[in-house]
Amino acid sequence: MPHLSTTLIHADDKNNRVSDVAPPINVATTYRYDNNNLIPWAEQDEMTVLEGEPVYSREAHPNCTRLENIFSDVLDGHAVVYNSGCSAFHAALVHFNPKRFFIGQSYFGCKAIADMITRNYGMEQYTLEDIEKYAQKGDLVHLETPVNPFGTSIDIQSIADKAHAKGALLLIDSTFAPPPLQNPWEFGADIIMHSATKFFGGHSDLLSGVLVVKDQTAARELRHDRIHLGTIIGNLESYLLIRSMRTFEMRVLQQSKNASAIVQFLNNNKSTYDKVVRVLHHSSLQTEPFVAKQLAGGQTPVFSMCLMNQEQCKKFVGKLKYFQHATSLGGVESLVEWRAMSDDTIDQTLLRFSIGCENANDLIDDIKQALQSMQDEN
Ligand SMILES: *Cc1c(COP(=O)(O)O)cnc(C)c1O
Repeated sequence: MPHLSTTLIHADDKNNRVSDVAPPINVATTYRYDNNNLIPWAEQDEMTVLEGEPVYSREAHPNCTRLENIFSDVLDGHAVVYNSGCSAFHAALVHFNPKRFFIGQSYFGCKAIADMITRNYGMEQYTLEDIEKYAQKGDLVHLETPVNPFGTSIDIQSIADKAHAKGALLLIDSTFAPPPLQNPWEFGADIIMHSATKFFGGHSDLLSGVLVVKDQTAARELRHDRIHLGTIIGNLESYLLIRSMRTFEMRVLQQSKNASAIVQFLNNNKSTYDKVVRVLHHSSLQTEPFVAKQLAGGQTPVFSMCLMNQEQCKKFVGKLKYFQHATSLGGVESLVEWRAMSDDTIDQTLLRFSIGCENANDLIDDIKQALQSMQDEN
C-alpha cells in the first residue's frame, strides 16, 4: 500500500474515464443506457448493480465513486460517502437499527437524530457509563473522540472492550482527528464516521460525510439504503472534495502542529493573562498514557479556552485579526467561536478554536495582543 500522500492523489486513477488530468465535473443526473448490452434490473445481481456504469445520480455518479475509492484506501475499510456528516450518522442508525443506543458528550446534531429515532421508534438511549449494565447483542455505542467542543480524548479501547463484551458495536466519530492523527480500527472500532465537511473538505465550502465499515456486504447495503434516503453527495461537492483530498495530509499536519504550538504557548503563559484565561482544554494537555497512543499521528487541531465571564468572550472574538468568528472547524482558515452562540448545553464562557494553516507565530501574536489588551482593561 502506498503512503497516505500518494494514496490521496492516486487512489482514484483506476476511475479515469477520459484523458483529463483533473477529473471532469459531471452535472448529469441521468446517463444513457448501453443499447448493445441491455440487462434488466431483475436479471442483475442486486448487490453489485451499483458498481457498473452510472445510471441515475441519486444511485451513484462518477465523482462519488472516485471519492469512495479514495476514502476506502485512506480510511482502510469500505467507505460510503454522503451529503453531510449528519446523513452518514443517520444512515448508520437506519442500517444497524439498534434497540439500545449508548452515547456520551457528542456533536449535538448526532444526538438530535438519535432523539428522532427514539421519538418515532422507541430506541432506548443510555450513557456510556451504562454499557455494562444494559448493552445487549446488536446494540450500538457511539463515541466521539476527540470530543466536541473540548478537543480532549476518550479511551477508545476501554469503551470497545465494554461494548464487545456485550455483543454491541462501536461507532467512532473521528471527525476531530482524521488520519494520520488517529486510527480507531487499532483500538476496536467497528464503524468509523467523519464529517468530511471539516478537515477532509478543509476549505469551508462543501458539506459531506463518510461512513466506513470493515465488511463489503454492509457497505453495499448502506449504498442501497442511500439510493432511497436520497443522501448521496452532490455532483459539484464531490468534485470539490476530490480536489481537497489531494492536499489533505499537508493541511491537517500543519493544522495539528499549529494547534499544539498555540496551546503550549497559552498553557505556559496562563499566569500572564490571569484576569482573562480560566481554563484550557486540549488533547495535548492530557497526561493519561492512552492519549499519546491514540493520537499517534498528532494532536487534534481543535481546542477550547474558557474565559472569566461572558462579557470577556464577546469582546475577545472582536479583537482577533486572523481568527474569524464563525462556527464549524477544519478549514485552512483559523476560526474561533463563542460556543454560547450555537450551543446552550455547554459552559457559556467557552471559546472553541479551530486552527488553520496560517503561520503559528502569527496566530500566537494575534491571540497574545487580544489577551493582553483585555488583561490591561481589567
Ligand atoms: C460537524 C460534525 C458532524 C456533522 O457533520 P455535518 O457535515 O455538519 O452534517 C458530526 N460530528 C462531528 C464531530 C462534527 O464536528
